[in-house]
Amino acid sequence: MASEGVMISLLAPMYHNVVHHWSDDIYTIQERLFARHLQWLRLTDHHPVTISQIADWLDGRGSLPSRAYLITFDDGFLDTLEVALPLLQQFRATACIFVTTSWCGIKEGPPSTRGHPMLTWSQLRQLADAGVEVGAHTVTHPFLTDIAPESAWEEIHHAKHEIEDRLGREVQAFSYPNSKHNPLIREMVQRAGYRLAFGGNFGLSHRETDPYNLYRPCIYNFCKVPEFLLSLSTGVDVRTRYGNWRRQLRTLKYVTNIMDPRK
Ligand SMILES: [Zn+2]
Repeated sequence: MASEGVMISLLAPMYHNVVHHWSDDIYTIQERLFARHLQWLRLTDHHPVTISQIADWLDGRGSLPSRAYLITFDDGFLDTLEVALPLLQQFRATACIFVTTSWCGIKEGPPSTRGHPMLTWSQLRQLADAGVEVGAHTVTHPFLTDIAPESAWEEIHHAKHEIEDRLGREVQAFSYPNSKHNPLIREMVQRAGYRLAFGGNFGLSHRETDPYNLYRPCIYNFCKVPEFLLSLSTGVDVRTRYGNWRRQLRTLKYVTNIMDPRK
């Protein structure tokens, strides 16, 4: 448990796909890199926690270790079971997968799944039996802020009940598709009975953080260990920084090229 004077924080990195081989897709992480992330979380004295522990801490009913973490996966990809799970077990990491219920069992999902196969309900059950918690990520993955409130309510409410009926486990956590939410959507998530929800802001959550907009830095395929640790500890959006840096580099190359006296 937390020692006196140490600020308790929660780190909840967001992953999408973990695969065997390198991919150019920024949301697809190679397993070797994922293993290094888990290894570094251990080396930096981070402690795995569950959704219930986090909810109790936010409610003021419990505490967390000083550097708490929970690995999160969005969408419900098959590789969470096939590739990520053995590594989670090896490093004794806790994790929660946020499932888009209508995508379950789809071999090649809609464009936002980037062609990766999704978990079936029975595979999702295997994952839950292995200790990975299951949260909801709506039924059809719409931008909740762009649809009618009645439809948003259906997406939020129905996803929770479908997962609970099929898996026989309570669903306590929610994540917003594309991290899109507003006060009305957050209020609906609370009213639907979820104890907490993750947004997509970079950084660490503290006890004062809105339980329906917890921080969750997205991890990209270029997040090697230094980038991973720095993005986690500083809360800096590495994707924007990386994009700006590459643009500046391109401009610099262009300017030096046109100013080249040999031309
Ligand atoms: Zn998603």
